[in-house]
Amino acid sequence: MTVTHVVLSAADLPDHWYNIVPDLPASPPPALHPQTLEPLRPEDLSGLLPQGVIEQEFSEERWIEIPDRVRELYQIWRPSPLHRATRLERALDTPARIYFKYEGVSPAGSHKPNTAIAQAFYAAEDGVRRLTSETGAGQWGSALSFAGSLFGLDVTVYMVRSSFQQKPYRRILMETWGAEVHPSPSPLTEAGRAVLAEAPDSPGSIGIAISEAVQDALSREDTRFALGSISNNVLIHQSVIGLEAKKQLEIADDYPDVVVGCVGGGSGYAGLSYPFLYDTLTGKRSGTRFVAVEPDACPSLTRGTYAYDYPDTASLGPVLPMFTLGHNFMPAPIHAGGLRHHGSSPTMGTLVQHGHVQARSVSQTDIFSAAVLFARNEGFVMAPESAHGVRGAIDEALAAREAGEARAILVHVSGHGNFDMAAYDSYLAHTLTDHEPDQAQIERALGELPSAKIPV
Ligand SMILES: *Cc1c(COP(=O)(O)O)cnc(C)c1O
Repeated sequence: MTVTHVVLSAADLPDHWYNIVPDLPASPPPALHPQTLEPLRPEDLSGLLPQGVIEQEFSEERWIEIPDRVRELYQIWRPSPLHRATRLERALDTPARIYFKYEGVSPAGSHKPNTAIAQAFYAAEDGVRRLTSETGAGQWGSALSFAGSLFGLDVTVYMVRSSFQQKPYRRILMETWGAEVHPSPSPLTEAGRAVLAEAPDSPGSIGIAISEAVQDALSREDTRFALGSISNNVLIHQSVIGLEAKKQLEIADDYPDVVVGCVGGGSGYAGLSYPFLYDTLTGKRSGTRFVAVEPDACPSLTRGTYAYDYPDTASLGPVLPMFTLGHNFMPAPIHAGGLRHHGSSPTMGTLVQHGHVQARSVSQTDIFSAAVLFARNEGFVMAPESAHGVRGAIDEALAAREAGEARAILVHVSGHGNFDMAAYDSYLAHTLTDHEPDQAQIERALGELPSAKIPV
């Protein structure tokens, strides 16, 4: 019988996270202080982030122990299942074996609680009582609200006003977990008040919401800020995904020839792929390909530049080496809100630079055709973000058919699409449009990079 669904027991939950930093082909250039552009020091982040998070951000340790309390809470939904998509394989008439690791089973519906719980744990360890963050479409805000509720922490989320108005369900989810949700710009912070004074009807932006959450955290002794992607500590926490998938594939007696996934900031794809990249980088395996898939509308890995840039539009965060479209780049309002980020994580940048990770971009209509084909064969209706990875996996399976090659494909399905029905509705009604930025728009935004240059 073909193994089609591998479920691990709680005892199989990894007891260490994996940090790829010591195994990279080259050390990424250091993060820089946003004002001085001097190398960032751990003490520059104190008061903003929990101490345990700061230590991990700078860590060069390969294996980092997962605290018992975090492992215990992971068990609410972890280990997450690994499925073999046999019905999709048949529909594609491909000799490829397609496996998907499904993170939509978490209470918040995505992989983001893997890091939200860890960050809430370290905040509680510091004796902090409150966390702030920003959210666009609401995936990260709901993960943090869920995590805060587990540790008795108050959570305040600044939600981009346009999403707050258009997507009430994620707000209600956050409030159900006890969080306070404010449409951003809000009158509660200096940053919000400044925007409202100029533009009382401002729809808001992620950059403004980050500024508000950061100012709020810095203004109170009992409060810290939490980040949902990009930074090293987040990628470390997400490694549970790939560590579990490795065990599951061992049970299925298989190993991937290709590891595919969607990339916004890159945390979910790093979570799945880095434990397999560990095998490649340390010479235990060769021949595995790694494919990161991003939207045509926000193509930081395929059309951006590898440079120092701010992680946020407000130029508040540490300046990081990354593939970027420029922090002022404004992507089209595609439905995969979680992939509308101008840059991605520094370690992903190093891996793309050195050819270990290949990047490609896909259109909005092509990702929905993949998501609908997947739903009609495998049942799960996934988030538009996840559909980028699945589009990539389907294209790999079709190429395998052309080549008559029985390759094994592993893909990250980062979340469910239960709150994305309006997007599916528009695809099914043929009203969805595709977007590609023109070169002039990208060059304009790249003209506004910080002055620091990556040493060559
Ligand atoms: C946030 C999110 C993403 C993109 O973020 P990464 O850091 O690149 O993983 C992808 N899928 C889902 C479901 C998300 O919530």
